[in-house]
Amino acid sequence: MRNHVQVAVIGGGVVGASVLYHLTKAGWKDVLLIERAELTSGSTWHAAGGMHTVNGDPNVAKLQQYTIELYKEIEQISGVSCGVHITGGLMLAGTPERVDWLRMAQARGRYLGMDLQLITPAEARNMYPLLDEKHFLGAIYDPIEGHVDPYGVTHAYAKSAQIGGAEVVRQNRVLDTKQRADGTWDVITEKGTVHAEHVVNAGGLWAREVGRFVGLELPILAMEHQYFITEDLPELKGQKELLHVIDFEAEIYMRQERQGMLLGTYERAGVPWSPRTTPWDFGQDLLPNDLERIAPSVSVAFEHFPRLESAGIKKVVNGPFTFAPDGNPLVGPVKGLKNYWVACGVMAGFSQGGGVGLSLANWMVEGDPGADIWAMDVARYGDWANRPYTNAKVRENYSRRFRIRFPNEELEAARPLRTTPIYEKLQAENAVFGDYCTLEHPLWFAPKGSPAREDATFRRSNAHPHVAGECRAVREGCGLIEISNYGKFEITGPKAAEWLSKIMACKVPAVGRIALSPMLNERGRLIGDFTMCRVSEDRFFVVGTYAAEVFYLRWFEKHLPPSGVSVRPCAMEYLGLSVAGPKSRDVLQKLVDHDLSTAAFPFMSFAQLDVGMIPALVGRVSFTGEMGYEIWVTSEYLRSLYDLLHEAGNGHGLRNFGGRALNSLRLEKSFGNWAREFRPIYGPYEAGLGRFVHLDKGEFIGRAAAAAEKASGGVRKLVTLAVDARDADAIGDEPIWHGDKVVGWVTSGGYGHCVGKSIALGYVYNAVANEISGFAVELMGEKRAAVRSAEALYDPKGLRMRA
Ligand SMILES: Cc1cc2nc3c(=O)[nH]c(=O)nc-3n(C[C@H](O)[C@H](O)[C@H](O)COP(=O)(O)OP(=O)(O)OC[C@H]3O[C@@H](n4cnc5c(N)ncnc54)[C@H](O)[C@@H]3O)c2cc1C
Repeated sequence: MRNHVQVAVIGGGVVGASVLYHLTKAGWKDVLLIERAELTSGSTWHAAGGMHTVNGDPNVAKLQQYTIELYKEIEQISGVSCGVHITGGLMLAGTPERVDWLRMAQARGRYLGMDLQLITPAEARNMYPLLDEKHFLGAIYDPIEGHVDPYGVTHAYAKSAQIGGAEVVRQNRVLDTKQRADGTWDVITEKGTVHAEHVVNAGGLWAREVGRFVGLELPILAMEHQYFITEDLPELKGQKELLHVIDFEAEIYMRQERQGMLLGTYERAGVPWSPRTTPWDFGQDLLPNDLERIAPSVSVAFEHFPRLESAGIKKVVNGPFTFAPDGNPLVGPVKGLKNYWVACGVMAGFSQGGGVGLSLANWMVEGDPGADIWAMDVARYGDWANRPYTNAKVRENYSRRFRIRFPNEELEAARPLRTTPIYEKLQAENAVFGDYCTLEHPLWFAPKGSPAREDATFRRSNAHPHVAGECRAVREGCGLIEISNYGKFEITGPKAAEWLSKIMACKVPAVGRIALSPMLNERGRLIGDFTMCRVSEDRFFVVGTYAAEVFYLRWFEKHLPPSGVSVRPCAMEYLGLSVAGPKSRDVLQKLVDHDLSTAAFPFMSFAQLDVGMIPALVGRVSFTGEMGYEIWVTSEYLRSLYDLLHEAGNGHGLRNFGGRALNSLRLEKSFGNWAREFRPIYGPYEAGLGRFVHLDKGEFIGRAAAAAEKASGGVRKLVTLAVDARDADAIGDEPIWHGDKVVGWVTSGGYGHCVGKSIALGYVYNAVANEISGFAVELMGEKRAAVRSAEALYDPKGLRMRA
């Protein structure tokens, strides 16, 4: 075993092997994989090997496509067969909602280059004689589905990597990882210590334990998972291999295995395995069967596929594999641990392993994953995702694997967990709450006396008329919304302004002013958007998306100078309320001595003010498009502030509003949101943020690339579309058509209650970005005509928020 390497990859499952291969492919040859036992000794060896391209996140779907295409390449390099069977697959719908879901999946596939065909139950039956069509309403046929041999794939990756210069050491457990003062690592193994510049934790079933070597508690949990293989069915003999099948109503997946059928299920009563510590002596072991647990699904499957009932069971496999709370992998560099990377929590190693390896290798070698992998980034979880939380959410996610997640649906596990001091007050107002990184926040307010509950649907819900009322209250009078669920950073020090100017693309504001502040990476792509408020010469209050707090902190830390700047996350220390609407000034003026007139406190002003007796940071800024103020206070004051504002707002018709109304109001203004309109695949000019990028202010990260984007015009533009929708608005990820071509995708959508239009924001290619008509958005399988609006649909000149 080498004693000094550039990278030590811990774990020889399909994921570690893929990382190793991709590192060599990207040019890093001095790389070592260390495996405790034999390759595949974690969850990989007993996997069913199924693979498919469909994923809820289009960016993850692209990486799944990449993974499936990769098998030819590693077979060619290594000479090892991956045992690829591309059978094609069917996803079967038994309810109208699932048919809607299939239509949406098919639509999304259009801009991803997927060839998904919507077919009737009779057509499905022709393709798959084992099913009884009377239980189904429709299906999707995907020609690119199938299965592989898990052992073959892992060895093909490892061998290809070895041919590329990597070393693989088996039967050698990593006992510890210790960081040296220079940020490199001592990897302590049973066979001696290796000095590595970088460490990759691809420990799969033991990734948690490997993480604990460095004090890291990764949010992953293994669940028991069962499938069985039937005795041979004589009618399959000599026939073309059957398709893969997902039957959502039975909650099963199924494929042919030799002459029998392999049937697996994600049962509702899923059982975690080793919730605290994974035993090191667990090898290529299986867990005891528990067919009773999967009986409810299996009995539905027997109705839907009657031939199976009489087929005996030849073999049962019950094995554990790991999940993150949302079911997506955990990939990337870990904040606070230099040169420490993870690639774990991969629940679909044979669809995703290649994409995970590619992204991580790009990230390590090029400094950037090369694709938008926000959905897999380990930084999407903060400290709030601790072990008990992970346990609750993973179980919920597992049990819902084959259930629809409606766009307006709030899941119940681990709730309510974090609440702010006005939670009970909002509850008393009949707030319907949402969960955002475990923090409860109001979505909308149901009428008094009716249940505070929203129907889960793809269409407009029971919230629709009530949200309309909230929107009107803001546009016509004054609304109050809790905005505690934003991320906040206090950035201080003599070099704070200089540093912010380098890290952000905007001009640093003067004391008492606010700047909208895009943050770019070296490639000039958007990796953040903030409101930067300057409190004093060397103190800034910076507000951004809370879900990206760790993502931002990781970036900040990477670029912090050794001294002179301090960054302090203070999301839960400062909570906030915003008042918005033409009467908002009148309400707030009653409570502060400071002159709030536009002359004295214009749009984008910021000050430390006493609101009544409450010390606060107050900014005149608005996400609703109306005159508005954001008021930030330390948490102990929030309750008093809420009461005070309501008292002051009494005569002005002040009314609570929630996140649903805010979304409608911001869509009317064409204001983008992080993780929707603003993501690392877009440049600031494409995203309509060019006016906040100050190329002439001096050097900043991403400047050269942003200048090039400005000169070239980028490849696409964010546009606003008014859609001729019926009862369902765009949500996001729908294709945008122009004529008979798909020219882009929706990033977010909803109903603009005050303009009376269904609105979609999305990106289209430059070639059509200046067209007005001829657009359509595909909603629930229907192309609904859309008209591009060259400017925001509401108050395009922004006069109302500046009034
Ligand atoms: C019953 C079942 C069916 C499945 N079916 C499918 C399917 O159809 N399709 C699909 O895509 N996925 C399926 N999966 C999931 C799939 O198995 C996982 O996605 C995949 O195995 C994850 O691979 P990994 O490399 O992350 O982890 P693992 O396979 O667990 O590999 C981790 C490796 O790291 C090694 N290791 C850990 N700690 C150390 C240490 N300290 N020192 C040295 N080595 C260490 C372990 O020995 C192990 O070999 C299934 C899983 C199960 C259990």
